[in-house]
Amino acid sequence: MRTDGALRGTMVLFDWNGSVVADADRARAALNEVLARRALPMLGEAEFSLRFRLPLSELFARLGLPAGDLAAAEQEWAEGMAHPHARLRDGAASCLTTLSAEGAWLGVLSAASAAAVRFDQRALSVPTVWNAVDASVTDKYAALMRHRPTRSRAFYVGDTADDLRCASAAGYIAVGLADAQGSGGADADALRVAGAAYVLHTLEELPPIVAHAAVPLTV
Ligand SMILES: [Mg+2]
Repeated sequence: MRTDGALRGTMVLFDWNGSVVADADRARAALNEVLARRALPMLGEAEFSLRFRLPLSELFARLGLPAGDLAAAEQEWAEGMAHPHARLRDGAASCLTTLSAEGAWLGVLSAASAAAVRFDQRALSVPTVWNAVDASVTDKYAALMRHRPTRSRAFYVGDTADDLRCASAAGYIAVGLADAQGSGGADADALRVAGAAYVLHTLEELPPIVAHAAVPLTV
């Protein structure tokens, strides 16, 4: 293990739903409730992980909702996401504690509302390690770009193809969390194709990767 503070100057941002919190099923269930109420076809796990993208209004429009119904659909989705059926992803607590102890700058960058993140944070006893929480993010790429210039080494950890596309486009080391533990996430190949430099199955694998990739090359 590296010495205390070895990760100062390193930033690790996390997607929330499906990444810190193992609840991709909750996101899919909330989406499918919106679709079912409108007699639109619901999405299976594989289709959900491929098609899910932000902003939600764009996703709903692609799924066939009329423009005048998008705001109502977003509100319903947010309410569906508030149901407490989540659990912490395996290895999340020790991973966050380790990265924080090593001095990494840690943040959440998520489409979830601030209230939903706060709720999960308390209900699931997520370690309070965050330097920043960007909630209700509708454009992940733009939000990632805002943080990127502030740290020399930057990682983004996410569970959907869209997360990895945005992260690699914004210059981050993109770390994908593959489907595991029934999280309903994307498979490893889909994440690699989308731009993941690393694909993990548990967050316990993350600290050594961050430590290794954070070591500047010596000439
Ligand atoms: Mg996610």
